[in-house]
Amino acid sequence: MSQPSDFIYLSPPHMGGSEQQYIQQAFDQNWITTAGANVNGFEQELATYTGVSSAAALVSGTAALHLALLALGVGPGDEVFCSTFTFVASTNPIRYVVATPVLIDSEPTTWNLCPTALEDAFKDRQKKGKLPKALMLVHLYGMPSHMQEIQEITNRYGVPIIEDAAEALGSKYNGQFLGTFGKAGVFSFNGNKIITTSGGGALISDDPGLVEQARWLSMQAKDNLPYYHHTSMGFNYRMSNISAGIGRGQLEVLEKRVQQKRKVFDTYRQLLQDVEELEWHLEPEGFYSNRWLSCFTIRKGSSLTPEALRLELLAVNIESRPLWYPMHLQPLYRECDYFGARVSDDLFARGLCLPSGSNLSFSDQERVADAVRKAFLS
Ligand SMILES: *Cc1c(COP(=O)(O)O)cnc(C)c1O
Repeated sequence: MSQPSDFIYLSPPHMGGSEQQYIQQAFDQNWITTAGANVNGFEQELATYTGVSSAAALVSGTAALHLALLALGVGPGDEVFCSTFTFVASTNPIRYVVATPVLIDSEPTTWNLCPTALEDAFKDRQKKGKLPKALMLVHLYGMPSHMQEIQEITNRYGVPIIEDAAEALGSKYNGQFLGTFGKAGVFSFNGNKIITTSGGGALISDDPGLVEQARWLSMQAKDNLPYYHHTSMGFNYRMSNISAGIGRGQLEVLEKRVQQKRKVFDTYRQLLQDVEELEWHLEPEGFYSNRWLSCFTIRKGSSLTPEALRLELLAVNIESRPLWYPMHLQPLYRECDYFGARVSDDLFARGLCLPSGSNLSFSDQERVADAVRKAFLS
């Protein structure tokens, strides 16, 4: 837009090539709205890729989280445990259904939900006599959470998981795709995510009934009668056939995008290995991140803050971004119950995301690396 031509963006869209063919087909068949071959095809192809029985294509990841909560029967008076270190779109849907978020801190390796804090929260709620209706588990920046430890706890308490895998399409834990561990998994196809439909989201599950219900709710919850008869309150959340066409083209190149994003991360580590202040967001054994964004924290005691670094990069036309500001610090969610040791506060205070486009050229990456090094030397 108004940025200079050498501006390096954080994570711009990256088309594969066949998106417009799918859109052209929709035009040719005059299937422009929320029904048609692209929506159905996109749902099937996404389910096949992740290895689940079904998927519902929706207008956003936020809408998908909202419908996941409804499909699990979460409502007024219920509590939902939720990762505190996340984007506000994870917690807001809990309030849409008039339930109450209980915020759980991160652990320092994956930056995702801390199993110990989770266990503390469960013990507390069990003592008080009411367990949460669900756990909203977020895999940030594509990094898998400690699934084995977390599932051991949630299974013991009999509480279902909704996976907010909005940032983690293509990531795996012990070879299994994220989004397929919980009762429901959610992806986002917003413009800056690893693949985009210009705006969109999806809910996946191995329970076809759950996906069917979400899809029905996304189309105004019409009862099975020839006229418009309603017993439930639905939403207008269905993805359009045009957006789904973009999605089908993007799915064809998803594996390639994951490889490219992973390469961007590895290249940063290599180019910046001499900068000792940088602590990279590393994968534990068996954790496979799509590397949606390449992130690090700055070693404790360094005189450079992430904000000073961000401004230095911006001065040379490089976009970077602070890590997510934890929900328990947000004015909107500050009064929520919180369990943890303020790990996410520390991550926010010391972390930064670098430009991570799958279409980032090597020479642009060198420019970023040189600017980062220069900021630490000066
Ligand atoms: C992007 C994102 C969402 C929301 O997805 P939209 O498609 O933008 O509604 C939810 N959770 C997380 C963690 C996200 O990064």
